[in-house]
Amino acid sequence: MALWVTSRSDSTFRALLEGGDLAGGLRDVSASSIVIVPTRRQKEAVLRAWALNHGTGEPPMIETMAVFLRRMGDHLLFGAPTILSENEVDVLIRQVIADSSMLTSIGFEAQKLVRWTQYGITPDRVDELADLAHAQSRKGRILAEIAAGWRKLIDLYGRLACDRGRYELEVLARLPNLVKRPLRTPSGDEISSCVMIATHGVTTLDRDVLAALAVCGWDVGVGFADDLPTRSETQDRIGVSVADAAWFRAQDWTYGETVRSIPPYETFSVALASREEEVRRCIACIKDDVRHGTSLRDIAICVPGASVYRQIVEDLARRADLPLEAASSIPLSAEPEATALRSACDVALRGWMREDLERLLSHKKITKTINNALDIIAVARQERITGGEGPAQWLHRIEVTLQRLVDAEADAADDAPETSSLHYQRKRAERAAAGVNDLHAMVPTVSAYAIRAGDFAEELRRVVDAMGLSSTRTADAPTTDRLLECLDAYTSLAERHQLSKLTFEEHVGNWWSMVQAVGPSITFTSGVGAAVVSPAELRCRPWKRVYVLGMVEGEFPRLHEHVADREIIPDVLERMYVQALTDIVWSVAEGGRLVFTRPSKTDGAATLASSLLDTLPVDVSVEPPELLSALTSVAISKRDVRNVAADAHRLDQTLNVTNILDQELVSVVQEELKRPVSASRLDLFSQCSYRYYAERILRLGSVDISDARLTPLERGTMLHEVVAEFFAKQQPIRDYEAVSSLDQLRTLMIRLQPSMADDYWDMLKSIAHERMRTQEWTHAYAQIEQAMLFGTAQRPGLLRQWLYQEMAYQVSTKHYPTFLELDLDVQIHVRREQPFEVMPIRGRIDRIDVSDNGQQTTFIVNDYKPTVEGKYRLQEIMSGTLSQMPIYLEAARVWLANHNVDAEPWAAVYRSFGNSIHKTDEPQNRVAMKDPDFVIAKTDSGIKLPDWRTTAREFALKPLAEQNAEVLSVIGDIAHTMQSGEYVVKPLQKACLTCDYHELCRVDEWGTG
Ligand code: SF4
Repeated sequence: MALWVTSRSDSTFRALLEGGDLAGGLRDVSASSIVIVPTRRQKEAVLRAWALNHGTGEPPMIETMAVFLRRMGDHLLFGAPTILSENEVDVLIRQVIADSSMLTSIGFEAQKLVRWTQYGITPDRVDELADLAHAQSRKGRILAEIAAGWRKLIDLYGRLACDRGRYELEVLARLPNLVKRPLRTPSGDEISSCVMIATHGVTTLDRDVLAALAVCGWDVGVGFADDLPTRSETQDRIGVSVADAAWFRAQDWTYGETVRSIPPYETFSVALASREEEVRRCIACIKDDVRHGTSLRDIAICVPGASVYRQIVEDLARRADLPLEAASSIPLSAEPEATALRSACDVALRGWMREDLERLLSHKKITKTINNALDIIAVARQERITGGEGPAQWLHRIEVTLQRLVDAEADAADDAPETSSLHYQRKRAERAAAGVNDLHAMVPTVSAYAIRAGDFAEELRRVVDAMGLSSTRTADAPTTDRLLECLDAYTSLAERHQLSKLTFEEHVGNWWSMVQAVGPSITFTSGVGAAVVSPAELRCRPWKRVYVLGMVEGEFPRLHEHVADREIIPDVLERMYVQALTDIVWSVAEGGRLVFTRPSKTDGAATLASSLLDTLPVDVSVEPPELLSALTSVAISKRDVRNVAADAHRLDQTLNVTNILDQELVSVVQEELKRPVSASRLDLFSQCSYRYYAERILRLGSVDISDARLTPLERGTMLHEVVAEFFAKQQPIRDYEAVSSLDQLRTLMIRLQPSMADDYWDMLKSIAHERMRTQEWTHAYAQIEQAMLFGTAQRPGLLRQWLYQEMAYQVSTKHYPTFLELDLDVQIHVRREQPFEVMPIRGRIDRIDVSDNGQQTTFIVNDYKPTVEGKYRLQEIMSGTLSQMPIYLEAARVWLANHNVDAEPWAAVYRSFGNSIHKTDEPQNRVAMKDPDFVIAKTDSGIKLPDWRTTAREFALKPLAEQNAEVLSVIGDIAHTMQSGEYVVKPLQKACLTCDYHELCRVDEWGTG
């Protein structure tokens, strides 16, 4: 049932209101009438309905209540006060709170004040409510504070400005003047009638305005939207329109009601796996609807609850090529220029925190203005400069880094590759220092004292210029202009209302709240597409399909109210949600379809369906259409088709870089391709050749460092260095290149003596302490890391565990560390056939242990890894994807042979030092390959023997030299492909999980080979 009222019994709006037929009813509405619609979206529907019936001539004015009041104000108020936006009012509220030491948590907000005013609440009324609640109770104190603050705010407005609610009060007071000074249409006709349509209820002030217009002789009508039918005769009506209509009736208005019933249509309610899945399914259904002849214009996606859906809808619709009627657009505060300017303020206010600097320097305009921006970030990540103590600390840390690099460069003078790497790092640190100095001029200068808004604005304008944001009329300039407009608005607000001086930080907070209020430059398009709407926007026209997302209890309805709201206008939220559901239920055309969806889980917890669904007056089917069934696989874009059909990857994706680069770059790449092969490059290539191309040829790698703790790699490297230094102390002569016989080799063997365990431990401790001191362990978990490394007398730390394990290993295997950090530059045979018979190998082996019993000399190759848990299996070695050990075994054998030592490969062992924070992963020695004659008894300790799986078990029965020859043949093929310059998007299983290049390789679109 829909109620209606008119101020005259012969109102021209009766046909419109009685029939409830927008198209037919508008026939009698003249061009000198105003039609007041609930939201901007209904303007189009009303205009369209009018045009269908009239076709020519001047249409009536169609506007929302806010615009209508503005029109009246412009007409009736002389020297009209400025209407402040809610965010401008919030700035003044902050001033009131600061001046009167009010609590910020009492719910004193502009949006609420406007609503209260519109419902006829005044500060005096709030005081009465405070008295009723007893002034000493918490509720009473909150209400009394609100009343006092509200009065102060009104004083602060003065005659110059007001909020929307008070503006309506001013208009209401001047409405009697309308008799002498009538409102006119653009063509000069007098306006003397207006009708408000499809409203769920009018606020107290709106009601008074309409009644005052009637007193001025206007023909006024109000058509209420249909209420939600009750489920039983005895149930109370839920809508507020009955009370509102009764009020008008008491003013002698004509009253009527139109009885209508909800048209028959299908209704479904389904739970889907996630919010994204809800949207995907809806998009799939919409595509299906269109395929079966439903016009996109008749389809709506309704988002009544969590606002997060709008972004998901926009993203997935773009990917699925589904046109939407709501334009995707970015609010001002999310524009890059705005975030850059805000970041510059944050840099200054928070003492140059790195995260602020990174945000600032990620803006492309800034990287153009500041030379060396990327070097600053690279050095900061590498050196763990987290900031917080100002630019001087940054310069000091970079200076320390520079000094360290200069020293290291001098020490490594004979090592060309190392020198070149250190030289590069030093140059980068020098550029970073210069960059920090340049950045200084771009960051606002923060005064220690409170300053005027004008001084704040001046400083921010200087920063805008220094950042190069306003230098030219580029595409960025409109955004910068809007930012500066906000700054002007803030300055004039502060000057007009004589706001007191504030700190720079407070000014930033005020100005930013006004930036946040500026919406997207385009919010609405009239293009053809599925409409993304709120429930109120569904009113005034029937839709053939309505998809309602997020019917989750707690989100729709979200009934949590502040105590102030609850006391001042009770149940306002509940009413709003019931009205939203009413709009949804009445929005569907006969024979149409209404679909409610919700995610079955949010944030890992199961959701409940909205309790509002229980009040639905329509039957909800339990059998959803096939496309909404969780059991059906649904594709909405090519990407999904790839998942379903899995054939896109069959297209030829081979990229030969030498064919696409220009001549100069081809020669650079050719040089790169000729470089000696290293195991790490080969392994990367086997993971995914395209990833190799991105990381090693294009050099797109990034540093990923946590400031909170050491990365496993850093921890491993540090411990590796400690152990290397410890062994170096046991092996005073280390001229490995001078070795020319087995006897000389024997002198290098390091045999740890169990009787000296305490001395070794003291030595290890002092080496580790010295490393920590020189490497400035300042990350958040540094103390915990130290405790875990050193342990206590009762619970040995990781370093002591390593020492005990090392001694046990020597006893068990009879192999002793002989070559530590051995640099190799040899050629190894990888396969017999051409074209790749020998492979140059250049690299460094962490450690080679040798055993010599007088008859046989064997060796074990070792490599240190951050962690070895569950990794480095023989199966991967056999397939050639883990090439390090086979290459090292052969390279070590060749190197020893070149030095007149005939030694047999015995095993390849990965070693880890354990992990100290996440889990207690103990130090481990894990055998990756071994000769079948290498047997370790179960009682032996210090080393773990592998448990090969079936295929590997047979392979492992062959002598290690034979195993290695087979694997090297496979590796030779891979190396040959790697040096051909062809890179295919062809990742191994799980390779993409740890790769950052998916946007470049577009593996999602292409599928995996
Ligand atoms: S994301 Fe996967 S396919 Fe793409 S480069 Fe990385 S590993 Fe290769």
